[in-house]
Formats: sequence, C-alpha cells, structure tokens
Amino acid sequence: MAPRQKKAPATKSPPPQPAGVACPQCGSGYAPVYYTRQQMGKTVRVRECQHCGRRFSTVERVA
Ligand SMILES: [Zn+2]
Repeated sequence: MAPRQKKAPATKSPPPQPAGVACPQCGSGYAPVYYTRQQMGKTVRVRECQHCGRRFSTVERVA
C-alpha cells in the first residue's frame, strides 16, 4: 500500500501568482478569488474559502 505519489512538474520556476492560498481559518487550499481591487498601488484580492466560507484578503504589491 504505497502512497500515491504526485508527479512533480519538471519546471522549477514558480507560477506567476499562487494558485491556492491557504485559508487562515481552516487551512484549506481552495480559496478562489472573490474579487480584486486596486488600492494605493497595491492589488488587494479578497478570497472566499470554499471549505468554511471565510473571506480573507491578500495584498500584492504591484512592481
Ligand atoms: Zn476555510
């Protein structure tokens, strides 16, 4: 009963933006972007966790 191994992609460069941000409440990795807004030169993304329904925001600085 060997654990199923995920096949790692050959690319070493990280994706341009994180596909999944872990929910701060339940730790679920599935929290798609609910909406995005620009604020003071930053990009604020509000995400909604599909596991527990919690909404949380992530801030990305636009270079
Ligand atoms: Zn959650």
